[in-house]
Amino acid sequence: MTLPLVVLGATGSIGTQTLEVADNLGLDVAVVAARSPSEHLVEIAHRYPDAAVIVAGGAAEERERFVASVGARVQFGPEPMLAAAATAGRIVMNAIVGAAGLRATLAGLEAGNRVALANKESLVAGGPVVSTALTRHGGELIPVDSEHSALHQCLVGEQADSVARLLLTASGGPFRGRSRETLASVTPDEALRHPTWSMGRRITIDSATMFNKGLEVVEAHNLFGVAYDRISIVVHPQSILHSAVEFVDGSWKAHLGRPDMRIPIQYALTTPGRMASLADPFTLAGLELTFEQPDRVAFPAIDIAFEAGRAGGSAPAVMNAADEIAVEAFLQGRLGFLGISDIVARAIDTVEWRELVTVDDVIEADREGRAVAASLIASVC
Ligand code: NAD
Ligand code: MG
Repeated sequence: MTLPLVVLGATGSIGTQTLEVADNLGLDVAVVAARSPSEHLVEIAHRYPDAAVIVAGGAAEERERFVASVGARVQFGPEPMLAAAATAGRIVMNAIVGAAGLRATLAGLEAGNRVALANKESLVAGGPVVSTALTRHGGELIPVDSEHSALHQCLVGEQADSVARLLLTASGGPFRGRSRETLASVTPDEALRHPTWSMGRRITIDSATMFNKGLEVVEAHNLFGVAYDRISIVVHPQSILHSAVEFVDGSWKAHLGRPDMRIPIQYALTTPGRMASLADPFTLAGLELTFEQPDRVAFPAIDIAFEAGRAGGSAPAVMNAADEIAVEAFLQGRLGFLGISDIVARAIDTVEWRELVTVDDVIEADREGRAVAASLIASVC
């Protein structure tokens, strides 16, 4: 029997699909948590009358209204969320967006729980801290990001020294094939139109700049312990081949399937077993799969991320924090599209490099990255 599920970020794209998967498999949803006391969370709370409901934020008046419609099982603030993740004997789906997800990842791992990790920012910002928590407490970290789920599955049963290279596939986003000059004037609406995946706003913009792939390179390095020189990116617009591993003997393993996040979500919940899923049937016949090199001039995010990853320490945390701020500014019309990667690169250069040992070190690097990015944006506006 699968353990009770804690769904953090239950109202988001991954959270909503997690609940669909859980319902289909008949799993026990013990906790649902989100940032805001929204109507969507009220509706989820009513669908799971036995689940504890946690709201991390929200103004006092909104909270009151929420309690009036959901009842006494509601708890507020980040602490109950961490306590829920830290209750042993549960699977924690961390589908929070942003570095705010780090503490929940750590809480789950420190309790020895399985953490199904959609929140890639935990690993990008806090890689060394997450690795320490993982080895010390016997928890389990199963990636939900489709590329990393693919790599995880390709690596099952393999030895570390058999791996020659990890190949991460990228859809290329809505601006694949465009030159850098033509990207200067793109609007948030254009950038939000992703060709193959329907996702939250931040990751959709990150896919358009290719910072998403950059973050995923760091995520892969921290998950699988493979050096940056042995991680590559290839653009594959159909999003059918989710990633691949090249082995030292010349063999390759690739993971293919429909671009449907319910598949990697379910894998993270059921592995080492598998069960029938909600995904539509899939066949290769008639499909054309194409692969091309990414354009590193139009999408400087890729090289910025490799450089930040190689620098290690606080650099990836600053990169992620500055990107969160820059994406928000772009969505609000305060920063141009090309400004996103400029601001991130300048923030990494500006914030003093430090080693990250404790979670407080990560939070400080994150805070500095945000503050520097915000002031750089203010100075260009
Ligand atoms: P989303 O914006 O749709 O949802 C985010 C969720 O996090 C919401 O429920 C929100 O209430 C919650 N949240 C935000 N801040 C919070 C806080 N401080 N405390 C508690 N809850 C908080 O985002 P998404 O697209 O579902 O992405 C979630 C994570 O999964 C991200 O890290 C993203 O990179 C990763 N991911 C998403 C996809 C996808 O297909 N959407 C694919 C791969 C990886
Ligand atoms: Mg991905």
